[in-house]
Amino acid sequence: MTAAATLEPTGAKDDIDVDSLPLPQLRQDLRLIEGGADGQEAGEAPAHWRIHDPAAQRFFAIDRAAVDLLALWRVGTVGRLRAAVRARDGRELDLDNVQRLIEFLQVNELVHPVPEQTFARVMRQRQAMKRSPGEWLLHNYLFFKVPLARPDAFLRRTLPYVGGLFHPAFWAGALVLGLLGLYLVSRQWEAFLATFADMFSVSGIVSFGLSLALVKTLHELGHGYTAVRMGSRVTTMGVAFVVMTPILYTDTTDAWRLPRRRQRVMIDAAGMVVELLVAVLATLAWVFLPDGGVRHAAFALATTGWVLSLAVNLNPLMRFDGYYLFSDLLGIPNLQERSFAMGRWWLRELLFGYGDPQPEPAHGRRKALLVGFAYATWIYRFFLFLGIALLVYHYFFKLLGIFLFAVEVGWFIAMPVWREMKVWFGRRQESGSRAVVTALVILGLAGALLVPFPYVVRIPAVLTATQQAPAFAPRPARIESVHVRQGQAVRAGQVLIELSAPEIEQQLQSAHERHQLIQDRLGRRSADGRDLSESLVLARELHLEADRIHGLERERSRLAVRAPIDGVVAELTSELSPGRWIDEKTRLALVAKPGALEARGYVDAEDLRRIEAGDKGRFVDELRLLDSRDIDVVRVGAAAADPLDNWVLASTFGGPVPARMQGGKALAEHAAFEVAAAAIGDAHAGLPLTEIRGEMQIRGKPQSLGLRVLRRVSHVLVREAGA
Ligand SMILES: [Zn+2]
Repeated sequence: MTAAATLEPTGAKDDIDVDSLPLPQLRQDLRLIEGGADGQEAGEAPAHWRIHDPAAQRFFAIDRAAVDLLALWRVGTVGRLRAAVRARDGRELDLDNVQRLIEFLQVNELVHPVPEQTFARVMRQRQAMKRSPGEWLLHNYLFFKVPLARPDAFLRRTLPYVGGLFHPAFWAGALVLGLLGLYLVSRQWEAFLATFADMFSVSGIVSFGLSLALVKTLHELGHGYTAVRMGSRVTTMGVAFVVMTPILYTDTTDAWRLPRRRQRVMIDAAGMVVELLVAVLATLAWVFLPDGGVRHAAFALATTGWVLSLAVNLNPLMRFDGYYLFSDLLGIPNLQERSFAMGRWWLRELLFGYGDPQPEPAHGRRKALLVGFAYATWIYRFFLFLGIALLVYHYFFKLLGIFLFAVEVGWFIAMPVWREMKVWFGRRQESGSRAVVTALVILGLAGALLVPFPYVVRIPAVLTATQQAPAFAPRPARIESVHVRQGQAVRAGQVLIELSAPEIEQQLQSAHERHQLIQDRLGRRSADGRDLSESLVLARELHLEADRIHGLERERSRLAVRAPIDGVVAELTSELSPGRWIDEKTRLALVAKPGALEARGYVDAEDLRRIEAGDKGRFVDELRLLDSRDIDVVRVGAAAADPLDNWVLASTFGGPVPARMQGGKALAEHAAFEVAAAAIGDAHAGLPLTEIRGEMQIRGKPQSLGLRVLRRVSHVLVREAGA
């Protein structure tokens, strides 16, 4: 019910007696305040009067004409108001002015409800009273305030003792000390950071907690003393709990009465300035104190001071000091409410073109600022609350975490969006032709989300010869000579690299010497004609020595790296220079059979369902240096490959598949399934036979973007829930 309806119930002004209409009754708890900094832009009429709504803690600037009307408001009806204005000012009452004023009072709920509104309001109140204990708990879990002190008299009495803090010379000195402290800490930056590591202990956490409490108390006193010094009153100080986190507050609402905007800005900034002062002094103390508990306390004070004042308090997008500072600097009181109203209006007009009047007159940069501030705040808070929800989920135990997650996301993100959507639905009849455009755009987006689209599945892979085999040394040995080059054709068993092992040579030589010795003794024996039995022993030893020589010679002859299959030397390890020692585990060469090429790679579980044997695609090398090759999928692994045989694809070797090393093998971090695809066409065409890293691009089964995103999200959630 608006004031327009109150004055013109049937749309025909002449039909009813306007004079008999009652004026809505003003709420008793409102205060009319004279003075106060002007919240208007240059060029607008300055407002010297404000209405303070203590229930909502809001201020409304009003002009002289409105104050004059409100002064006569008690007369009760439009007719009597008309008579009173005529008697006082000697002029006719402007009905439009009255109508605008009533609208303003009703929109901002500054009047007692008129009868038509009462029913709806009572129903709403009854519903509010029926709130279940759960809802009450939920609401109080999110926000409640505990006033602790009425500090006004105390602040006034003790103000003289802190008077020196308001002297410009003090702040000049503090600035010099601050710069000095920062300079000195920068000289000992490593030690400063090292202290940080020391603080992760029970005593460290306790000193962070205590310094946080101290810094925050001083911060509030900063607001309080500055407010009192500027001549305003400080009604309460206390603790507010936001999502169970205690936050000290100082009620400086009275500062709205102050004549100059600069004074309010100073009160807003005082808390932060005190924190910075504490940080400066603590930083200096850290520099000069000897190592120990006191120095750790100074470190805690310094870091909490710097971080809180710079990172938390300066942020205008949360309702901390930075917000009030920003609002007062701009001279826009109730910035958040006004900008949210503007942001909502802007969105509704953009989407549906309702043709609603703008919530307040603002143009150009001011309008852009109000709308921009609303969206900046919403986007920031969306990510902040999502972040808090994730933190809660990770650090509380899981069940409570999921509950708190739901509360955070539901209360701070889903509910406001839902409320706005309800408004859109309720006003669906009103929307103009713009709604058609919006609907088409939304339909288009939904279509793009739902229509299956043949995405290309990208699979990290290597392209190699279908048949290939590695060559190793049979035992640790020294390289004598290398007989082949890369690209050379070889036959199975052909020697690629000749090796030598000095210990075999040595053993061989001593075996030969022993053999000769035994032979000599045996020759002398038969000449002497001594005991036959001893000759038999010597003959057996001679035989053994001959066996040993034979074995060593065979081992020496095997001392070579040979081609395992017929083919072409695809790879030859670099630095195979003669004289170098090698072990039996290093792959020295790769011999590949030219003719057929195959791409082998790993697909994740998500894309696995979208490809199958027979699918077509192409292979593209990593550096895009070669022509792409058409491929046909020939095999899709049924079980996850673990470890990864194609280790060049593992992230531990610079490849794209996430992996970790364990026992000398690359293990996939997430399930990876092997896929092999045969290259079609002429395999020789300009391709070196080495392994080429790249990706398979397979035209997989069509899937909608929406389903794809949904699958990926559920995948992550399942993985997290299982973790
Ligand atoms: Zn503050």
